[in-house]
Amino acid sequence: MIPEIEELYQEVILDHSRRPRNFGELPDAAVLVHGDNPACGDEIHLAVKFDAGGGLEDIKFTGHGCAISQASASLMTVKLKGKSRPEAMEMLRAFHDLVTNDANEAPKVLGDLRVMRGVRNFPQRVKCAMLPWRAVEQAFEQGAGEATVSTELAYCRTVQRRACDLSAASRKGPDDARRTRIRFELD
Ligand code: ZN
Repeated sequence: MIPEIEELYQEVILDHSRRPRNFGELPDAAVLVHGDNPACGDEIHLAVKFDAGGGLEDIKFTGHGCAISQASASLMTVKLKGKSRPEAMEMLRAFHDLVTNDANEAPKVLGDLRVMRGVRNFPQRVKCAMLPWRAVEQAFEQGAGEATVSTELAYCRTVQRRACDLSAASRKGPDDARRTRIRFELD
């Protein structure tokens, strides 16, 4: 990538991590999902309110952790507000590809989320970037009430498993690949 663009992307990520959008409580939330990424110490508490059609009427978060996790949550909430469940899940898959698959061109549908593409060069940060997405996925599944989700168990649940397995196996050491398989079995 052109260095100037890469720099610009980094600035956008830093801006979102320092001044996260949609950060705060959502008192009339239908679902509250506590997301945990023990590998990095990231926490995202995602609050969601659904519209009559089951789409995302409002979405807010609180939490703490690395810049990638917080920026990813901020960018995600901006992108997903007002989206239907199928649209959100399509975005999830596209975003997962963006941060794991270096062969893929970034789909235009991702818009601003494309600033996160550099994460693919840092496999250990993929969970940081995916944490808020795992939380929103859980929010849809849950429908109401409260839930917890951890990157250690929810990894690769909806995305195409084979593609995910390949990227996990090729990017990590043998120990990590084994753990990924165990995780699949737990699913
Ligand atoms: Zn992190």
